[in-house]
Amino acid sequence: MLRPGDPAEVAEAVAFARAHPGLPLGVRSGGHGISGRSTNDGGLVIDLSRLNAMRVLDEHRRLVRIEAGARWKDVAAFLAPHGWALSSGDYGGVGVGGLATAGGVGWLVREHGLTIDHVRAVELVLADGSIVRADATEHPELFWAVRGAGANVGIVTAFEFEVDEVGDVGFAQLAFDASDTAGFLQAWGDWVVDAPRDLTSFLILGGSRPGEPPVAQVMAVIDSDDPETVLARLQPLAEAAPLVAQDVRLMSYRAVMANSDDATHAGDGEPTSRSGLIGRITPEFARDAVRFLESGATYFFQLRAIGGAVHDVRADATAFAHRDAEFSVVAFGASRLRTSARWDELIAPHTDGAYLSFDTEQGPAQLAAAFPTATLERLRALKAEVDPGNLFRDNANIAPA
Ligand SMILES: Cc1cc2nc3c(=O)[nH]c(=O)nc-3n(C[C@H](O)[C@H](O)[C@H](O)COP(=O)(O)OP(=O)(O)OC[C@H]3O[C@@H](n4cnc5c(N)ncnc54)[C@H](O)[C@@H]3O)c2cc1C
Repeated sequence: MLRPGDPAEVAEAVAFARAHPGLPLGVRSGGHGISGRSTNDGGLVIDLSRLNAMRVLDEHRRLVRIEAGARWKDVAAFLAPHGWALSSGDYGGVGVGGLATAGGVGWLVREHGLTIDHVRAVELVLADGSIVRADATEHPELFWAVRGAGANVGIVTAFEFEVDEVGDVGFAQLAFDASDTAGFLQAWGDWVVDAPRDLTSFLILGGSRPGEPPVAQVMAVIDSDDPETVLARLQPLAEAAPLVAQDVRLMSYRAVMANSDDATHAGDGEPTSRSGLIGRITPEFARDAVRFLESGATYFFQLRAIGGAVHDVRADATAFAHRDAEFSVVAFGASRLRTSARWDELIAPHTDGAYLSFDTEQGPAQLAAAFPTATLERLRALKAEVDPGNLFRDNANIAPA
């Protein structure tokens, strides 16, 4: 376990890894990777948790520099006094490095896009130990790749983000009687897609207490500090099914993200997780999602809005290319074989694209789902240039061309 304290020490750690090519190599920022690749057994881990500084670079441009080992709850707390926020994920304990090199589907995604859409520059250590800065003009190809496939091209030590002005937001946690699960799923999907961009919502389905109807848990952030606006956004959904519990409050984005403790995470990942991206929720998808839930193949089935501002960015502007998705679908399971078999049969036929951060399967099929052919070829060509020996391989590995 190597814990570098600055980019030069990261470069030394990378040199040590190069000298031991047979050893697994994990790169860890927050240790929350779902695939569990940031840890390993008997190999090396380069742990960036000491690199966690944050500072404002330009107050006027809302430009901040955040090191990779910081966690998103600390970022939210750092930005809050300025009246700023950066859409990241839903969980404060996740690390900056893993999420901001992959995508970043968070509470403000429909309004402000993915986390990678706010990256203006990165500082990274390449496989040969060189320390570079990449932005739109300096190493532009690296800058493109880092925003969606960063784990394959280097170790990012710091990001420059342009953040947004965000005041108090409406945070809703609602539970619905989902006896008509398919009907509710479609109603929720239509509500999200048709809502103004200030609304982002996530939905968890499955599980019920014995003798009670299934419950759908809806979480939503509405970027408004006006109670009437918050209620108006929620009202159409409140009419879709009986509400069994509700908690709606105005709070800071910082408070929304203060949902994790300070425990360190060893990056063990989930037993098994499958993921995909879909467009609008069709009756066929809703039907098959119910069959999937009823099969018992998942203990956690979640949909997340991923539309709105994500669609504004051109598909070839970043390595995250599936810009037309409306929802991310994720299923955690206890049995890899059973969950994958049911997923492949019932959910995969509806998906178009994948977000690798939510998948424990990281083989060629997942790569092909996550990156369209042209994107993958471009990434392979870059990989051949910056990491021909495939040092950074313990992730969804893009082999050099
Ligand atoms: C509870 C939970 C909630 C989550 N919620 C969301 C969410 O709301 N939205 C979302 O988009 N994702 C979410 N995720 C997924 C999360 O974004 C990814 O798992 C991410 O990789 C975690 O980042 P980390 O730094 O904590 O992970 P780590 O385990 O430290 O790293 C994961 C992988 O990222 C790569 N990596 C890490 N640091 C660097 C670096 N500095 N440079 C280059 N590559 C690096 C490595 O390949 C590593 O294996 C969630 C995960 C969990 C466990």
